[in-house]
Amino acid sequence: MAIASVTGQERAKAQIDAWLTADRLPHAILITGPLGTGKRQLALELAKAINCQTPGSDACDQCGSCRKTDSLNHPNLHLLLPLPTGSRGSDAETMATLRETALYQFHGQAAAATRIGTNISKDSIRLLQKEMSFAPTEAPHRVGLILQAEAMLPAGSNSLLKILEEPPGQSIFLLVSDAPDQLLPTILSRCQRLPLRPLTISEHRARLEASGTDGERADLAARLAASGRIRAEDVIGGETFDELRELVRRFISAGIQGTDQDYWQILEDLGGRPDRQQLEGFLQLCSAYLRDLFLVQQQQLTAVANVDETEALQGWAQALQPARVELVAQVLDQAYDSLSRNVNPQLLLADLWYQLQRARAA
Ligand SMILES: [Zn+2]
Repeated sequence: MAIASVTGQERAKAQIDAWLTADRLPHAILITGPLGTGKRQLALELAKAINCQTPGSDACDQCGSCRKTDSLNHPNLHLLLPLPTGSRGSDAETMATLRETALYQFHGQAAAATRIGTNISKDSIRLLQKEMSFAPTEAPHRVGLILQAEAMLPAGSNSLLKILEEPPGQSIFLLVSDAPDQLLPTILSRCQRLPLRPLTISEHRARLEASGTDGERADLAARLAASGRIRAEDVIGGETFDELRELVRRFISAGIQGTDQDYWQILEDLGGRPDRQQLEGFLQLCSAYLRDLFLVQQQQLTAVANVDETEALQGWAQALQPARVELVAQVLDQAYDSLSRNVNPQLLLADLWYQLQRARAA
């Protein structure tokens, strides 16, 4: 892979090409865009291109530097991403988890197999600060790659701001975020923005086919990804996704047509006390279904993401008051936002259930 191989995003790629060709790369670049736009892939390819040993404005993908960056083993590449709660920023085990998680995020299919945390601690940023302050050893630049940058806690953000205000020579920071509005304005103002646009269904499909997935699963993954709710990789991942989807399907179906008994059963099947990460996946899928319900009500069947569920969707659409579907969707969006603000996940689910019940056609 190289920058040129990233699907779509011609504008962003042209911008990067201009920077690299003129050898005028900003010290801090913030790659933004909704879920599933290829932000992480572009960031990694850019990190490769920055230190590639072959002359040119893209990564050659062959040299030692490109290969090391690809496997996240390059001594001048420093990664930061939210770690599981309780892990410390500097011990060896934490670093191993971080690398493993990042490898999944960049190359893996089963995102559900990773242990992703919610916060980037101040400790982790201090460590990055220290690493970035050394002169680069094997390559022209030190690259600090911060995934889910919005997960930085305020104290950490302030530490990062200090580095960005006086970046060590030869250092380049690449920040990746799908919620840049949650970053400190002072950090935003230090970064050059590189916004990515949502991919179309066919672009998603082309990307999946290029990596060896095709058929019905690729179609479902492409549609769900294009709806902006789900990562295509999670859909491709298989079993875990299918189980979760079945639960979501039951939740919505019971919310529209079932009883409170069903609710408690589903909660139990979710593990009794779903944690934040589980619930995030659950809410994302709920949101994809509700978007589909909306589309069915508007007779826009070709845009439906859960294509294999059209019949069920039509049944549900009839059982709901059209005006109420929008309300449920709003509650869902609020629930999703509340997840990042320490709200009890079970309360969110109960509220969503209540709104579904209220949306039933009289
Ligand atoms: Zn190279």
